[in-house]
Parts: sequence; structure tokens; C-alpha cells
Amino acid sequence: MNTILKKIPFVDLKSQHEPLQTELQNAIQEILEKGDFVLGEALKKFETSYAAACGVKYAIGVACGTDAIALGLQACGIGQGDEVILPANTFIATLIGVLHSGATPVLVDCDHETALIDLETAQTAVTSKTKVILPVHLYGQMVSPSKLKEFAKANNLIIFEDAAQAHLADREGAFAGSVGTAAAFSFYPSKNLGCFGDGGIVITNYPEVANKMRTLRNYGAPRKYVHEQLGTNSRLDTIQAAVLNVKLPYLVDWNSDRNKAAQIYDTLLSPMTEKGIIPVKNLSGSGHIYHLYVIRVTDKFPIDRDTLKEKLTAAGISVGIHYPIPCHLQPAYENLGYTKGDFPNSEILSQQILSLPMYPGLSEEQINYVVQAISEVINK
Ligand SMILES: *Cc1c(COP(=O)(O)O)cnc(C)c1O
Repeated sequence: MNTILKKIPFVDLKSQHEPLQTELQNAIQEILEKGDFVLGEALKKFETSYAAACGVKYAIGVACGTDAIALGLQACGIGQGDEVILPANTFIATLIGVLHSGATPVLVDCDHETALIDLETAQTAVTSKTKVILPVHLYGQMVSPSKLKEFAKANNLIIFEDAAQAHLADREGAFAGSVGTAAAFSFYPSKNLGCFGDGGIVITNYPEVANKMRTLRNYGAPRKYVHEQLGTNSRLDTIQAAVLNVKLPYLVDWNSDRNKAAQIYDTLLSPMTEKGIIPVKNLSGSGHIYHLYVIRVTDKFPIDRDTLKEKLTAAGISVGIHYPIPCHLQPAYENLGYTKGDFPNSEILSQQILSLPMYPGLSEEQINYVVQAISEVINK
């Protein structure tokens, strides 16, 4: 067997950064020389470029995606007593962000084919206290902007997007993060655009939201030593912004590379639909940026998801589960009052989903090897 196929990582950041090494080192060196480590020039530059890339007016860098959700909601005037509707099928940070904003999270189920928030069930969760619909553009696929806007308008809510998995994803002519009042992104290293540690950003078209964000991330101080709000310390480091300045110009190509890899997976996996392997549905056309490529291992498949995961791992293929326990069944959030059975689609998905290797530069040969390994189960 070909040696490069002996091990297929889940993501490969090393090969992504290797060709950029000189550029990255120079960018970091420049900050060391300048010494503007906090709220420096490279951060301002990145905020301007990132807002422009997403098609919005303002971007405000923060310490991580979780803070981007918490502070972003606060900057939109959301807090104690306000209800925020979000999907149960998401990374736990979405829920933590809502809780840290002071608002009350109200979880809803997802669609079983796309794994995205189900706006029809969300309708039944709306109360007189509901202020926000918070869609998560999960796995890199956007929730429909037109349906979101319709939902928000009908219920008099604002839209706050969790776009942490959807940098430059687009659907119906809108980029992720440009649909609502404001949106949160994460630059955790393995996201489609990642820095060399933790980082996040809030984007918005509203100057008052942007101004409030700048105050909130900086001890609640619009001017030095004048503290108008509680606020916190949550800023995107200048060094991280410098890294992101180098990487941003490559993002479109990296995303399209992921999209091509996903199409190869789709094609090679399609004969296995009958046998129970079903990729999570892509309704965004080419606008899906495949932060993750996720399949469902349904009951028709000869072995269950966990056994398939073991077999792939044994074959040197790194896979993941995003996410094995839905938010409402996590022990820390028992006090929210949810129980097993509340969100059946999220619960079934958590048992069936499997994320296959996905990163820019993943080769057709490697994808073939992964699909072969899955089909061997059927042919035995
Ligand atoms: C990564 C992620 C976050 C949180 O970002 P951090 O930078 O890790 O705090 C929030 N929501 C989703 C959907 C994510 O994938």
C-alpha cells in the first residue's frame, strides 16, 4: 500500500502553514519589533479586511468564539430576561455564549437531513420574552437567509448568527454573518480560518453595535479609565491578527478545495446510500464550505457508528463525532430542565453521525482510501 495512505489525519494544519512559513514568520516578527501586542495595527487591519470579506461594515476582534457570542449578544442589547432560541444540535460553546450573555437559552430540534435548526419547530418555542433567533451554520452550511429573515420578521426577533464553522460560506447571495443584526466567528486553529491559538470576532452593519462591542471587550471603557459598562477583557491579540492577515487571502481557495473534496466523497459514497451511509444533506449548492464532512451511519448499515469508527481508526483514518452528546443532555445543563426525548432528531443524529477527514489538500487518493475502508464493511 502507498505509504501516504497509511495514515490520514482528520485535519492537517502543518501542510497548510508550510508554504506560508516565511510570510507568517515575517508578520509575527513585525509585531515583536513594534510591540503593539494589544489592540495594535495588525488587529485594525484584520478587522477592516474581515468585515469587507464578509460584506459588512464592522468587525471587532475578541479572545474567542464563545466570547464573540456572549459579548455580541450583549452588544445587541440582549441580556437577563430575554429568551434566545438556538439549536440543541451544536457545539456546546453556542449555549455557553448565550448563558454568559445573561439571556435565557431556549433549545430547539434540528432537521434530520441537514442537521440545521428546524425553524418550524422553533416557531413553537417563541414566547413573549423571545428576542433572538440564533442559527448555527453547522458544518459550514448556512441556514437559509430568506427563511431566517421571514422567521425573524414574523416574530419580531433579531437574528444573531453563530458562524464559527462558516467563514465565507454563502447562500442565496449572502455571506454567513451578514444576514442578521450581528454574528460571531471563531478562529480556533482547526476552523476554516484559524489562528495560532484562540481568537474570535463579531461582525455587524450597525455602528452602535460595533461601538458597544469595542467598549465591552475593553473593560467596558469607551475611553481609557472611563468605565461605562461592566464589560470584560476579551481582545484578539495583535499577533493572532497578524497571522490571520496572512491567511485570509487564501481562505477562498481553501474553502473551494474543501468543497471539491466533499464532491468527491459524495460521488464515491453515493452507491452506499442503499446500504445506509447517508451524507448530511447539502442544500447550499457550492456555498457550503465543509468545515466538516459528516455522514450518517443509519440502521441499514451492517455495523453501528461506533464500530465503524473503530474500524476506520484501525485502518489509520482519523475520524470525529460532532457531537456525541446533544447540548440538552450534557450534565452541566440539567438545570435547564430538558430530558431525553425532547429533541429526537438531535438525539438520533448524535448516535449516527461520523465526521470524515476534511481539510484543504486532502487528495482524491486519500478520499478513495477512506471510502474503500467504509465499503469493506459491506463487502465482508
Ligand atoms: C468553535 C465553535 C464555537 C466557539 O468558538 P471558540 O473560539 O472555541 O470559543 C462556537 N460555536 C460553534 C458552532 C463552534 O464550532
